[in-house]
Amino acid sequence: VFAQAAKGFKASIYLHKQTQSANAKSLVAIMALQTVKGDTLQVSAAGEDAEAAIKALVALLAQGCGEAVATVAEPAATVLSATLLKGVCASPGSAFGQVVQVIEPELAIPEHGTDEATERAALARGLLAATEALRTLQDKACGSAQAEIFRAHQELLEDPTLLEQAHSLLADGKSAAFAWNRATLATAKLFQGAGNALLAERAADLADVGQRVLKLILRIQDSAWDLPERAILIAEQLTPSQTASLDTRKVLGFVTVGGGATSHVAILARALGLPAICGVSADVLGLANGKQVLLDADKGDLHLEPNLAEIEHLEAARKQQALRHQRDVAQASLPATTRDGHHVEVTANVASLQEVEHALTLGGEGVGLLRSEFLYLDRHRAPSPEEQAGTYTAIARALGSERNLVVRTLDVGGDKPLAYVPMDAETNPFLGLRGIRLCLERPELLREQFRAILASAGFARLHIMLPMVSLLSELHLARKILEEEALALKLTELPKLGIMIEVPSAALMADVFAPHVDFFSIGTNDLTQYTLAMDRDHPRLASQADSFHPAVLRLIATTVKAAHAHGKWVGVCGALASEALAVPVLIGLGVDELSVSVPLIPTIKATVRELDLADCQIIARQVLGLEEASQVREALRQYHAATVETSPVVEH
Ligand code: PEP
Ligand code: MG
Repeated sequence: VFAQAAKGFKASIYLHKQTQSANAKSLVAIMALQTVKGDTLQVSAAGEDAEAAIKALVALLAQGCGEAVATVAEPAATVLSATLLKGVCASPGSAFGQVVQVIEPELAIPEHGTDEATERAALARGLLAATEALRTLQDKACGSAQAEIFRAHQELLEDPTLLEQAHSLLADGKSAAFAWNRATLATAKLFQGAGNALLAERAADLADVGQRVLKLILRIQDSAWDLPERAILIAEQLTPSQTASLDTRKVLGFVTVGGGATSHVAILARALGLPAICGVSADVLGLANGKQVLLDADKGDLHLEPNLAEIEHLEAARKQQALRHQRDVAQASLPATTRDGHHVEVTANVASLQEVEHALTLGGEGVGLLRSEFLYLDRHRAPSPEEQAGTYTAIARALGSERNLVVRTLDVGGDKPLAYVPMDAETNPFLGLRGIRLCLERPELLREQFRAILASAGFARLHIMLPMVSLLSELHLARKILEEEALALKLTELPKLGIMIEVPSAALMADVFAPHVDFFSIGTNDLTQYTLAMDRDHPRLASQADSFHPAVLRLIATTVKAAHAHGKWVGVCGALASEALAVPVLIGLGVDELSVSVPLIPTIKATVRELDLADCQIIARQVLGLEEASQVREALRQYHAATVETSPVVEH
């Protein structure tokens, strides 16, 4: 009855029960929701008759859809108004602007070529022109993350498997455009079907490169979009190239149906400072061009009928944030010391030399996490030992002998495959051969990396850190290899050796690990996924896999207590440390170092300076006793508002 009624409307309509949703026009989907009497349902709709649809369908539900049920005073259904669409934050911020739907025109691709030599030349011309264009984009990139993406794209253009596929199609008489398109689509499909979130996101990169070359072969001018002012772009999916070339004077933000918070598009959006949300219902593609909408990316919301008060409120908040940021950057060289004199070290999470240099200009006091697996991401061949040693030494030199450099050994596996470290497919990669487990299975890999890292000893205060440690025996085995390599190099002093606390077993046994390490660094990203048993890349669990959960905070408390009892220091290098809201609780729990994402160094340092250690200890104790992440966030929001945000920043 319900599906029939829904079909009477043009709007696309969904029925929601908790985290599940069903197309309201599909009987099978509605049945799969397994709704029983007493459940609370929501109806959402988008399209010209959305409002009428919601009204009629909610009434139908409340009446029991034709069944003789006792009517309840309150309707069993509540309306999820069609005025709000939800997604996941890909890049923070907010914007009020007009909808601009981005639609890529279909390309006409002839299947058959003229002759093989001509088609080969056409493909070579397209590839060369694409390489040059990517090199220019790489040079113009504002930040290492952006530059890396375009370097990786160039590398894809040289991929032998891809080229082999294209050439064999050319030999079959296909056109250059057809051969190239077929080869890239087939490989992208392979990536998508690998059951790995990171690979699936790389499929988007491949599709992007594929389109770029295709247009060049077909001699189609990739004209910049003719955009109106204050555009909020809406797209099924944006490509990294499109994102990087957005004109930020006109584009205020974007919303996509596909993509994830860890995609390259999200990384680029953050680098450009563009608010963006992803994972939004496909309903968004039906919004009319020119419609005024309010994008609140922090909350993952797109308001379709924003009222003036909401717009003004967000606009004022945005202005305050911008002023605060300017002030924090100006004061970035000041130490992160609380008002009652407690110093907290604020260091950087980095993946390249450029990021280290940037971190230093923003007041970073060292490197708390060098994600070494990102140094050579997208390489198909392992870097030589000399190249590795050169990279670590350059980073250590940039830091100097007074600053900490914490190099994490290769953390491959899980969501981070490394092209030059082939691995067997696993049913549960996050529970498989990840991090230190993989390195201990292939000790030569670890040995070589230790040798390269040790070459940088003396240039900075060198620390080596092992990822994904869950057993004490892993630490002992790794230490033995490190000691052998240090001995072979005739080093008189061993660098500091620590482990990441990312697995509940390591946190719970921190008192057992502590005597055997020099330091701990807590990886809250993984600690959260393993504690709550929620995949960190799962789009439907994104809002629940929250590092503010008291279970995660209790494990942090256990770790710090054990470390301090043995005179060892503890850092937090997971994304929780980069959240200003979390700073009071982390300090209150006794965390000694916060290693944060580079652009946030000034903000986190400024936040520390506005706090009192004694108050932080009280709030930390309080939140450990709460029941859920949302309660912790609320308590911290209130505390934050009462302390950090009491004085509005004034413009000078
Ligand atoms: C973490 O898990 O919190 C962490 C810092 O490591 P990564 O995000 O690289 O897995
Ligand atoms: Mg981790």
